[in-house]
Amino acid sequence: MVVVVYRYGHRIARDKRITTHVALVARAFGADGIIIDTRDEGVEQSVKKVVEKFGGNFFIKSGIEWKKYIKKWDGKIVHLTMYGERVDEVIDEIKKCKDLLVIVGAEKVPPEFYEIADYNVAIGNQPHSEVAALAIFMHFLTEGKWIEKEFDGIVKIMPSKKGKNVKYNYEKILQLEGCSKAVIEHCKRVKKLAIEIAKRIAENGIKVDFDAVEAGAMLHDVGRAKTHGIMHIVEGANIAAKYGFSKKILDIIKHHGGAGIDKEEAKKLGLPPDDYTPRSIEEMIVAHADNLTGYRYRKFEDALKEFRRKAGERAAKKLKELHEKLSRMAGIDINEIVEKMKKEERK
Ligand code: SAM
Repeated sequence: MVVVVYRYGHRIARDKRITTHVALVARAFGADGIIIDTRDEGVEQSVKKVVEKFGGNFFIKSGIEWKKYIKKWDGKIVHLTMYGERVDEVIDEIKKCKDLLVIVGAEKVPPEFYEIADYNVAIGNQPHSEVAALAIFMHFLTEGKWIEKEFDGIVKIMPSKKGKNVKYNYEKILQLEGCSKAVIEHCKRVKKLAIEIAKRIAENGIKVDFDAVEAGAMLHDVGRAKTHGIMHIVEGANIAAKYGFSKKILDIIKHHGGAGIDKEEAKKLGLPPDDYTPRSIEEMIVAHADNLTGYRYRKFEDALKEFRRKAGERAAKKLKELHEKLSRMAGIDINEIVEKMKKEERK
């Protein structure tokens, strides 16, 4: 069944917030879209932003006159009004309909609505709110199953007893930004290795922020959607900023170039003046996991050879220092973790 909500009588100045709430309730409780009679780009934009971030296929269109829309509507029409029939008495019949247009008012609705509606439905015969009326109607219509709906968004909020538990779909961000399959696979591989390194360091008694390692590793190359040159580290941080990621994550992305790019090197490479050296433990882990991950995982010695050949002795020296530092922190040679990852990939 397709369910579309029609919002009648929207007044831009007065109803901006409540119409947005009607739209958000429609989306969250399982409707497919909303039509608003008065053109309002502001409401459209705020609802589209929610859809972009939290997912789903919900549509919103404004500036469509009710007579025109209803003329083309092929399904049944429900008008939510306190003057209607009791919802619990008509819902079984409504559930059998193919498609439903659910009309909710803002200002007083014209008398024709009571006539064109197949069902005038009351959510209790007391005056209250269109937001509440729509939510409860959708609850009845879906027999409470709206709660199971998966939205597959960039952001997923996990139920939590206390505090916020938010999960990000990093792969979706990489796809949305236009990263190639190869880049996405590389990011996933870097994440696996980075998490393994982080685990060993944490087991050795050093505090590591695993969420930051995961986010930073998955997004470290998002800038490659724009360029494969060294500027991808800056572009990547800018893209991640757009999604509202913290400075901690942006710095992982910005500081993952080689084993670190200092001010002098940055100047030579044409990067905006800055020091791009990895500083936090999370920055170092992601930068090095990246150094040890090409298309496949590779030993430190192989990465070192390539660094020498491509970037010179100074870069190679930094790589060696980073490898030794992280190995000390992990209490084992990072090469051992790489070997384990290689074996797992072969399985
Ligand atoms: N003053 C307006 C009128 O009398 O048409 C209604 C204002 S009311 C806040 C806005 C909308 O909320 C109504 O058009 C109706 O869709 C919905 N609504 C309010 N109370 C309702 C109820 N008890 N049952 C169903 N819908 C209700």
